[in-house]
Amino acid sequence: MPRRSSSDLKSFLAELVDRYPGQPEFLQAVDDVVTEVWPLVEDTKAYRDNEILRRIVEPDRIVSFRVVWQDDRGRPRVERGWRVQHSNAIGPYKGGLRFSPNLTEGVLKFLAFEQTFKNSLTGLPLGGAKGGATFAPRGKSDAEVMRFCQSFMTELHRYIGPNEDVPAGDMGVGAREIGYLFGQYKRLANRFEGALTGKGLSYGGSEVRSEATGWGTVFFLKAVLERADDGLKDKTVSISGAGNVALHAAQKAVEEGAKVVTLSDSEGLLHAPDGFDPELLERVMTQKLERRGPLSAVAEGSKTLEFHKGRTPWGVECDIALPCATQNELDGDDAKKLLQGGVRYVIEGANMPCTPDAVAAFRKAKIGFGPAKAANAGGVAVSGLEMAQNSARLSWDEARLTSQLEDIMVEIHDRCVADGEDRNGHVDYVRGANIAGFRKVADAMVAQGVV
Ligand code: GLU
Repeated sequence: MPRRSSSDLKSFLAELVDRYPGQPEFLQAVDDVVTEVWPLVEDTKAYRDNEILRRIVEPDRIVSFRVVWQDDRGRPRVERGWRVQHSNAIGPYKGGLRFSPNLTEGVLKFLAFEQTFKNSLTGLPLGGAKGGATFAPRGKSDAEVMRFCQSFMTELHRYIGPNEDVPAGDMGVGAREIGYLFGQYKRLANRFEGALTGKGLSYGGSEVRSEATGWGTVFFLKAVLERADDGLKDKTVSISGAGNVALHAAQKAVEEGAKVVTLSDSEGLLHAPDGFDPELLERVMTQKLERRGPLSAVAEGSKTLEFHKGRTPWGVECDIALPCATQNELDGDDAKKLLQGGVRYVIEGANMPCTPDAVAAFRKAKIGFGPAKAANAGGVAVSGLEMAQNSARLSWDEARLTSQLEDIMVEIHDRCVADGEDRNGHVDYVRGANIAGFRKVADAMVAQGVV
C-alpha cells in the first residue's frame, strides 16, 4: 500500500470529525495521538498494510444501558450507563468508572482511548476501557449510592471479569462505590474474584492503590527533574483539584520538601501562600474525601489560608504546576499566565487537563511538560499489581508496592525519553509517550491479524 502524506493526516482527522461531530473530547485525544504517531505509521509498512490507525480509533465495543434506581423517597430515577471497551490487544480491558451528571459517551470514548496507550506505557499486560454513568453522587445518601451501584452492576456484570474487563474508580467513584459494586458483582457472579480494582484492603484490595495516581504523578515529576539535574526541594507547586489525585500528589510533594500553595474545587481556589503542611493536608483530606464537603470550609477562621470563589490556581506564580482536577481545565490563557509567572514544569495528574492551545504553548516554550498518559499512569499501574495479587491470592506490603510504583513511573519516564529526545537532548514527553504507548499496541495488533 502507498505511503500517506500530511494532507492524508488532515483528511484522516477530518473524516473522523464528520463521523463523530458531537464528541469534541474524543476528537481532541485522537488528534493528539494520531498527529504524533503519523510519521511512524508512514515509515512502518505493517502498520499501513494493517490499517492500524483506522482500527485503533474505533473502540472494540460500547455497551450503553439504562440504569433505574430508587431514591430515598421511593421515586424511580433514570440514568444512562456505559462501558467503552477500547482495546484488548495487550491485555484484558482495564480502566475506571466515572459517575458524573454531565458524562457523555464522547468523554468516555476519549478516556478509553487514552487509557489504552497509558496502560501500554506501564509495561503491564492491560488493555484499555472506561465506563460510568450520569449519576451524581453529590448530595446522595449512602443507601442511594448503594442502590444505584447495585442497579448499575446488574447490567455491567455481564461484560466484566478478571480476564475480560476489570473496572476501577475514577471521578465520583471511590472506595465506597467500589465496595457496593464489588458486593453486587459477587452476588450475581457467585464468584469472589478480581473483577474490580480499588477494592478495600479487607476484601482483596491493594496497599497504595488509593495513593497511587497522585504519588505516581510526583514520582514522574521527580524523574523529569532528576534528568534536568533539578529537584523538588523548596520548589513552589500549584495543584488544582481536591480529589484523590490532587490530595495525594500534594501529600507526596510536601513530603519531598516542596511548598504546595494551592488546591481547588468546583467552587474556587484555596490559596496557602506559606504552603500546606502535612496536618493541614490531613484536614483537607477528611473534609473532601470523607465528609465530601466544600473546600471553602477549610479556610473558615484561618489566618494562613485564603479562599477565592470562582478562581483557579493558574494565576498564582509557581515553579511547577500539577493540574489534577479534570479535562480541559487549563487553557491557552492560563498557560500564558503560568509561563509569564516563570513555570518550568507542568505535569498532568488529571486526564487531558490542558487544552491543545495550552499544550502547544508549553511545548513551544520547551518547559518540562508531562502528559497525563505518562504522568498519571500510577493509578492503573497499581491496579495491575492488585490484579496480580488477586490472581496469586497474596497481598504485598506497602513498602514493596511503593517501590514498585516508583520503579514503574521511572520506567515510563525512560520510555518517553527513548522516543521523545531530540538531537539537542531536549525531551518532548508528549511525542515520547504517544509513540512508545502506541507502538506496543500496534505491534500486538499486527501480530494478532485482522480481528
Ligand atoms: N481511572 C484511573 C485512570 O484514569 C485508574 C484506572 C484503573 O485503575 O483501572 O487511569
